[in-house]
Formats: sequence, C-alpha cells, structure tokens
Amino acid sequence: MSKLKVQIIKWGIVFLPLIIIVFILKVFLPGFSREVRTSQFGDSKSFQTEHFYTLTKEIPESPRQVATLCEDFYSAFIREHQSQISFKNLENRIEVFFFGNRKEFDNFYKSQYSRSIPHNAAFYSPVQQRIVLYWNNNTRETLYHELTHMILDINVDFHLPEYSVWFNEGLAMYFEKYQVVNGSLIPGELDNEAVLFVRQAFKNHMFVPLTELCSATAVDFRSRKNTIYYYESYLFVYFLKHVKGADTFLQYFKEEGKPGECSPYALWDILQKPSIEIEKEFLRYYKIN
Ligand SMILES: [Zn+2]
Repeated sequence: MSKLKVQIIKWGIVFLPLIIIVFILKVFLPGFSREVRTSQFGDSKSFQTEHFYTLTKEIPESPRQVATLCEDFYSAFIREHQSQISFKNLENRIEVFFFGNRKEFDNFYKSQYSRSIPHNAAFYSPVQQRIVLYWNNNTRETLYHELTHMILDINVDFHLPEYSVWFNEGLAMYFEKYQVVNGSLIPGELDNEAVLFVRQAFKNHMFVPLTELCSATAVDFRSRKNTIYYYESYLFVYFLKHVKGADTFLQYFKEEGKPGECSPYALWDILQKPSIEIEKEFLRYYKIN
C-alpha cells in the first residue's frame, strides 16, 4: 500500500466518526431541542403549518384554527406591505404556545424569566421566536398583536432594528384591530374605548406627555399603570397614519427600523414641528382637552 493510501485511511479513521456525529446532530438536534422546548408546555395538542407550530391546551379553538389565524394574518400582512418594505423569509417556524388560563401562563412565564408579568396577557420572545398567550376571549386580537411584534422583529429586512417601545406596542395595538377577509387586511375602526380612556386620564392628570411616551421603557408597559401607555401609543400611531399621512408614517417607520435606537428627535424632525405643537394637535384631534 502506498504511503498516500495509508495517510487517507488514517485520516479517515480519525475524521469519519466526527463527520457522522456532526451529521446526526444536524439532522436530529433541531427536532430534539424542539421536543425539549415543547415538553415545557406539558400535555397539549399541536398543529404545524408552513410558518407556525402551534401548541394549545384546553382552549375552545383547535391548534389548527390557531395556526390558520396566524398563517392568514402573516401572509396578508406581507402581501399588503411588500411594496413598501422588503421582507425576508422565515428561517424557522414560529412557535405559538396557547394556554387555557392565566395561571398556567403565569407559571410558564415565571419558569422562563423568574419573574411575573401580572398586567400583560401575552408576549413574544424574540430569542425563542415564540408567541405565548392564554385564552381570554380575544384570541384573534391577542394573536394579531403578538404577530405584529413578531413580524417587526424578525421579518423586516433591516439588521437588528430596535423599535421604540411605544412604536412597537402602538403598531401591535393598531394591527390587532385588523381583520383578514379573503386574504386581504381590512383596517379596524378607531377604538373609542382608547379615546375615552385617554380623555379620562387627562382629566385625572394621568396623561403621559408625548415626549415622555416616546422614551418610555418596557418596564412602563409592564407596570400596573400600563393601560395609559398602551392606549396612548395606539392613538399616536393612529394619529400619525391617519392625520399625518401614509408617506410620513412610512418615513418614520423606516427611521425606526434602522439599526440601533431611534433618535428621540427623529419623529419631530420628520413631522417638521416641535413636540409640543404635535401634542396640541394630538389632543385636539381626539378632543382630549
Ligand atoms: Zn405588545
């Protein structure tokens, strides 16, 4: 046997098991890690579509219905916005964990993050690419809300966008009111409950000035007083889109989508007015003061 052949056999003996191990890991590890992750959910029903893997536990909807809701919203959203924003394909299926009640949802959150979110009904985890919620009579709205976070987070073709919390939440609240009819997104009406709530908050001196809202953190949106933050963010997004116009809105959306944190001045620069003037317009539009 030539020296070369001996060398090849020698290296083959060393590397072949390694190649086999790598191959096995590549084929079985994703499935295995999914098994580990989904076992955290406990006994459940599951269903898989092109982009979603849903697990449900004692809720009126079947996992298939939940997955279909997600799939329909996702594809309608992409179709509707792809002329303005470039989207990339999802690399992995998004997991949707749908618990039957608040208690199980709480327990799950605590097991994952060692703290609780008593004032929120659902969340999206960008790290695990997973939506977690519990059944509260608003399946469609809650799902659309979290799906908006998901699309903003992973599907927009910018690198590491860091949306301002108010903008991210405002958009999610804005799109949760949409409906999907025959594959098209149908906008929701202005939510009067939000307007009434903010009017009342203004009277009670609980209104959050818009500059403060724009620099609010995730902690504000998890707090006991988070409703005013959510409603104001929603109304501000609605105001930008419907009063300031789609082009201005898109310009700001792209600014927010750029890498890193958005400058607190970007919005007022785009609107070409100082924040105090915009706030006056905002209050007038909703007849708040
Ligand atoms: Zn949200």
